[in-house]
Amino acid sequence: MMNSCQMVWANCLHIIKKNVPPQSYQTWFEPIRPMRLEGSVLTVAVPNKLFYEWLEEHFVQVLRVSIHQVLGEKGQLRYCIMNGNGAAHSPVEEKPLSEKASEGSGIPGWVDVDKIKDPRIIPGIRRDRVDPNLNPNYTFEHFIEGDCNRLARNAGIAVAKKPGGTAFNPLFIFGAVGLGKTHLAQAIGNEIVQRYPDKLVLYLSAEEFTNQIIQVIKKNEINTLVHFYQSLDVLIIDDIQFLSGKQKTQEIFFFLFNQLHQSGRQIVLTSDRAPNDLEGIEDRLISRFRWGLSADLQAPDLETRMAILGTKFERAGVAVGSEVLEYICYNVKDNVRDLEGIMVNLLAQSTLMRREVDLELAKSVIRNFIKLPTRGITLEAIQGVVAEHFNVPIESLSKESRKRNFVVPRHVAIYLCKQLTNLPLKAIGKAFGGRDHSTIIYSCRTVQDMMDTDPAFRVAIEELEKKIKLSLGG
Ligand code: ADP
Ligand code: MG
Repeated sequence: MMNSCQMVWANCLHIIKKNVPPQSYQTWFEPIRPMRLEGSVLTVAVPNKLFYEWLEEHFVQVLRVSIHQVLGEKGQLRYCIMNGNGAAHSPVEEKPLSEKASEGSGIPGWVDVDKIKDPRIIPGIRRDRVDPNLNPNYTFEHFIEGDCNRLARNAGIAVAKKPGGTAFNPLFIFGAVGLGKTHLAQAIGNEIVQRYPDKLVLYLSAEEFTNQIIQVIKKNEINTLVHFYQSLDVLIIDDIQFLSGKQKTQEIFFFLFNQLHQSGRQIVLTSDRAPNDLEGIEDRLISRFRWGLSADLQAPDLETRMAILGTKFERAGVAVGSEVLEYICYNVKDNVRDLEGIMVNLLAQSTLMRREVDLELAKSVIRNFIKLPTRGITLEAIQGVVAEHFNVPIESLSKESRKRNFVVPRHVAIYLCKQLTNLPLKAIGKAFGGRDHSTIIYSCRTVQDMMDTDPAFRVAIEELEKKIKLSLGG
């Protein structure tokens, strides 16, 4: 019979399963073991610390939602690390689920505006209280240099040595997903905090920045925000492409940028593309992005990948043969994040199955991993979630069938692809068995009409949309 702790975890898993792609579920949730339930605190065992860190980085939202749904708002999750034989009898380390990303609108580094009403006292108070919002693991030391990142890395080091005192202002780091932009941007922040403890450093994502703006506009406290930013010595904003199309946020950012730049403060930005390729961003901002240095991150070559992965295994305290390293790096080419995911999973499997990390294990892990969709919302992923929701085969979405129980899910999937991706109609049509763009438009209109006339349908679609964003986004 299941005890209550197993039951609670089974219920959580039930929710999680519906919200993450099956591969991710199998890879990251099946290895977790429930340990005990004390009040509303559930403790689960994970194979190792890296595994826990991976969960925290990639699945914290879905974990939180499931825990809250099952145990109520007070529900908490704690992790412990399984002992060597995978049996998880004696937890060796415990760590609560981080509260960090709990609210999308959280304000990193920022003292609650409600608590400080008098703007004149803000700078003094805040000097001591800004939390730079940095992950201490993201350092230069841990950021392996290669041809792919030499310029960006060295420029980052130069900036960290003399924030605001080089020509690299702003330092604009760009590159595809998983190539180390966030790591590098945070390494700059960490290094500055180390070298200059008095300097006020703040790292945040452009999304968090946008949320702040929305909040202060609502509360009519733009001045407070401006004050706060003016007191910073170093402002690091990650994924600046997120400001695309956000007029008001861009306007305020433009103002802050000028203020900071004029007074010699350092600005570091990252983006998924070069300044000139940014769309939906005002020209005057783009021209400022180009004032300093734009440095790109390329996909690492085989040697660099091996150096990165080798170091990561070393830091995890695990010896692996060069044939294992080579095999992994040969097969995983353009994303360092995936390399890391494979390593974490390999270590987890080796703990669970009580076997060495050898070539055979590496092969089986990679086989699973390479099929994984890349993070972010893809058409296939949306189709997967919709098919599961309506309980129809995923192929039915791209077939010709006119059966009503296939037609509605198909319309819905098309509608959601249109809503949730920036892909052209043609690309969406292609993913649905080569339908032309007028069919796509028709589907979208049909769903829209159904939503307008049937509130229950609307709620269902909105839920589905939320679910997709939650499980696949970011
Ligand atoms: P991005 O922000 O570009 O999507 P991240 O900075 O999140 O990428 O990097 C993904 C993962 O890869 C991180 O865990 C990071 O530590 C690791 N990584 C990327 N490049 C390197 C590198 N050169 N050396 C060590 N780790 C790296
Ligand atoms: Mg990033």
